[in-house]
Amino acid sequence: MTIRALRYMDDTMLRRKCGKVEVIDDNIREILNDMTETLHAYENGAGLAANQIGILKRLIVVDIGYGPIKLVNPVIIGHSGSQRLIEGCLSIPEVYGRVLRPRAVVVSGYNENGKAVTIRAHNRLAVCLCHEIDHLDGILFTDKLINSKN
Ligand code: ZN
Repeated sequence: MTIRALRYMDDTMLRRKCGKVEVIDDNIREILNDMTETLHAYENGAGLAANQIGILKRLIVVDIGYGPIKLVNPVIIGHSGSQRLIEGCLSIPEVYGRVLRPRAVVVSGYNENGKAVTIRAHNRLAVCLCHEIDHLDGILFTDKLINSKN
């Protein structure tokens, strides 16, 4: 495993739309492992999307302290409620703010072995999944900041 260099704020990679992964092979597993190691290299990191390390594939890793969840081609297939947690991003250091997100989401995708998985998440994990899936479409949390009175 290798810690990869992060892309920051004005890097155009962060604004590109990532492409769907067609085959989940050793190359994809290696990228997911590198993403996990890179995420774990940052004490305050909760998730990472592939374009944050310059790879335009629909891959995310989320870890809110219960071990990494690696997802290929994640899609939000259901959501309910709302919450406004304070978010940050490894690619946008020192910036934090509230974003309106669903309270709970259902995400479908594939694990690193190519098995279809469905994840039901709420609270912080739901926010992380939404944040990372947004990255895959070139969207940053700073695009969605709300006034704290909202
Ligand atoms: Zn981020």
